[in-house]
Amino acid sequence: MSLNKAPKNNVFYRNQNWIYPRIAYGKGIYLYGEDGKKYIDACSGSAVANIGHGNEEVARCYEEQVKRIAFTHLSRWTVDVIEKCAEKISEWTPGDLNHVHFVSGGSEATEAAIKMARQYFIERDGKNTTKWKVISKWNSYHGATLGALSMTGDTPRRKIYDPMLLAFPKIPQFYHYRNPWGCKTLEETSIKAAQALEEEILRQGPENVAAFITEPVVGSAAPGAHPEKIYFEMVREICKKYDVLLIVDEVMSGFGRTGMKFGVDYFGVVPDIMTVAKGMSCGYTPIGAAIANGEVFETIMVKGSGNFVHGHTYGGNPLSCAVALCVINILEREGYVENAAKQGEYLMQKLQGLYKYPIVGDIRGKGLMIGVEFVKDRETKEPFDVSENIKGKVTINCLEEGVVVYPGGGSVDGVRGDHFLLAPPLNITKEEVDELYEKLERGIKKTCEQVL
Ligand code: PMP
Repeated sequence: MSLNKAPKNNVFYRNQNWIYPRIAYGKGIYLYGEDGKKYIDACSGSAVANIGHGNEEVARCYEEQVKRIAFTHLSRWTVDVIEKCAEKISEWTPGDLNHVHFVSGGSEATEAAIKMARQYFIERDGKNTTKWKVISKWNSYHGATLGALSMTGDTPRRKIYDPMLLAFPKIPQFYHYRNPWGCKTLEETSIKAAQALEEEILRQGPENVAAFITEPVVGSAAPGAHPEKIYFEMVREICKKYDVLLIVDEVMSGFGRTGMKFGVDYFGVVPDIMTVAKGMSCGYTPIGAAIANGEVFETIMVKGSGNFVHGHTYGGNPLSCAVALCVINILEREGYVENAAKQGEYLMQKLQGLYKYPIVGDIRGKGLMIGVEFVKDRETKEPFDVSENIKGKVTINCLEEGVVVYPGGGSVDGVRGDHFLLAPPLNITKEEVDELYEKLERGIKKTCEQVL
C-alpha cells in the first residue's frame, strides 16, 4: 500500500495523500471497504462513532423524526425533542451546567462559547468592559473556523491562516512528555502549566481577560496528554480569583470517551462553560453545544438583554436533537461509559507491550482516548526527521493489518507530532480489544523494521 492521489471525482477532498479504500458500510467497531476488506475503526472516525456503526435503533429514531418534523428554526419554534435533549444533557453534565446552546459541531461550539464569555461580561459590567481576550494553549485543538482556529494551538494547522487569526494569548500545554519546564513528574508539569495561566492573566491584565479555554485530555494536538487533578483545581481557583470564565472543551473527550461522562469529572471541577459535539450524537447527525452554567445563562438571558447575539440555522434542529437524545439514551442504557473505563484500562495494559519497539516513546491517555508517540531515540526523545514520515508509515502499516488509527497534528518548537490517537467505539468488547492490539502491534513492528 502506498500514498496515492485522492480519487478523481467531484468531491473537494481534504487530503491529497490517499490510502483508504472506499467504504461500503459499517457495523459495530468494523468498517467494510469496497476492497472486500474489514477494518477495525480504532479511532471511531475522529473519536466520533462512539456507539459503533450501523445502529438500527438510531435508524428508526431518524425515520420517525423525519416523518414528524425535521426542521424548525430555534429563533421562533420549540419542539419536545429539543427540550428533552437539553434536559438529558443537563442530567449528564456536572454541577449547574444546565443551559444548552445547540450548534452543529465542535468548531461552532467553540465560537459560541467564546462569544458567550464576551457577552457575559458586557451584560454584567456594561459595554465598556475591556474583558474580551481568551487565553488558550499551544498543542491544543478547538476547531477550524477562524475564531476557533485562533484558540487552537496547532502550528501546522494555523500556519497559512496566521494573518487572518485573532492574536489571542497562548500558554504551554500540560504535555508532560515534552514539557518546556524540564519537569520530571506529571504533578510538577501540572503545577507549572497551571501557574503559566496565572502569569499570563497577570501579563495581559485580568481586566482584559474574559476566559481561558482548555481540553481536559488533549485530542489531536498531543493525543491522550492529560494533567493531574491539581491542574484543574488550581486553574479553577485562578479563574475565580481573576474573574475569568473557565471554558472546558469536551468536544472529543465528552460523553464517555475517557471512561467518565466528561473528562473534567476525573478532576472534580465544574467549568463555567463546556463545549461538546462528536460523541453527543456519535456521528449519526451533526450536532454540538456550548453549555453554560446558571450564572452565565441568567446574566445574559434573564437579568440581561435576554438575547444571545449568536446562532446558526441548523443549531437546535429537531432531527439532530432527536438523534442525539436517542444516542445518549443508548450510551446510558448500555453502560458504554463504564465499558470505556473497563476496556480502556485493559487496552492500556496491553499497549505496554509496544514498548518493546524502540520507536515507541510514550503511551498516555484516559479511558478509550489514548495517544502513542513515536521517537527516533527513546532516551533523548529525539523525533524522527520529517522526511521519514513515521506517522504516515505507521498509519499505512496498521491499515494494511486491518486497523485504522488517527494520525495526530500538533507541533512544539518545530518538533512535529509523530503520534496517533486510539479511540475505538465505547462498545468494544475484550475480544475485540485483543484483536485490535494484535493487528496494531503487527503494524508497529513492521514500521520498526522499516526504519531501524
Ligand atoms: N475541539 C476539539 C477538542 C476537537 O477535537 C475538535 C475536532 N477534532 C473540535 C473542537 C472541532 O470540532 P469540529 O471538527 O466538529 O468542528
